[in-house]
Amino acid sequence: MSQAKATILVTGGAGYIGSHAVLALKRAGYEVVVLDNLVYGHRELVEDVIKVELIVGDVSDRSILDQLFSTREIAAVMHFAAYIAVGESVTEPGKYYRNNVNGTLTLLEAMVAAEVKKLVFSSTCAIYGMPKQVPMTEEHPQDPMSPYAASKWMVERMLGDFEQAYDLKSVAFRYFNASGANPEGLLGEDHNPETHLIPLVLLTALGKRESISIFGSDYPTPDGTCIRDYIHVSDLADAHVLGLEYLLKGGTREVFNLGNGNGFSVKQVIETARAVTGREIKAVERDRRAGDPPVLIGSSDKVRQTLGWHPQYPDLNDIISHAWQWHQKRHG
Ligand code: UDP
Repeated sequence: MSQAKATILVTGGAGYIGSHAVLALKRAGYEVVVLDNLVYGHRELVEDVIKVELIVGDVSDRSILDQLFSTREIAAVMHFAAYIAVGESVTEPGKYYRNNVNGTLTLLEAMVAAEVKKLVFSSTCAIYGMPKQVPMTEEHPQDPMSPYAASKWMVERMLGDFEQAYDLKSVAFRYFNASGANPEGLLGEDHNPETHLIPLVLLTALGKRESISIFGSDYPTPDGTCIRDYIHVSDLADAHVLGLEYLLKGGTREVFNLGNGNGFSVKQVIETARAVTGREIKAVERDRRAGDPPVLIGSSDKVRQTLGWHPQYPDLNDIISHAWQWHQKRHG
């Protein structure tokens, strides 16, 4: 075995994107400690599948953080722990501001106290609000339209302030539609409740749901359904390792979009899923979902140029095939 590299603390490492990042870090030779409160995370993915240390606890628990930072040589933090349901954030905003904003503030203060000053942060393209032009670059005006998006926007803002005051360096990745699953079938998406299109389509293919709803078929797009930029979760995870290495080499604060650069419509997703699964997948056209922009596509030129990131799986077929492999294993 080669000498292990630095130790990285991953908050929310038992969740969907976090667990893929933990696997990528481990494969890149890093020592990883996961902190996850397991409200939505999956213990077995960390302990049995990836096999790294899991500490069950909350990022808003300062004493756990102090203990963690004082007993290990943590070189940097990857921070995924957050609530992510946009709709719920509208009805329960306090839950989102408390967990996503207060929790992150506690983490940042503990980091500064422990002199751990490198952070990779999980942000979202939702901070841009309604697209004024696509593909959206990092310069796109920001107008978060939900408490969820606002909570991520506020953290990005705090990161700027913490850099200025304490020299804390960070990379924030603004994800477009994270999707797919580890290509070997080890990890995948398992939200409860599930609200995302690709897993819902695949649960329908598995017979766990009667049909998939198409939220709006009268949008100004070629087939009338919304277009999104689906990015493979393993490609996202790889970008996080590159972001971390950029910081470890002394990089200063940056924000990067992470998208595939390709847009696919809801109908294209369903058609591709039919081809991949060989199942019928009943689809029902329904009303638009509130707050959905017709087209969301990100420009990832900056991350490609600055970090040398290239998505390995930009093809929707691969994204859905990998997700299907996982869903069959998990729910089949
Ligand atoms: N969508 C849909 N039916 C569903 C879930 C989602 O038609 O059951 C649509 C949704 O309106 C959006 C796209 O699929 O246009 C992607 O939605 P998702 O919730 O997966 O991600 P979002 O773009 O909201 O982050």
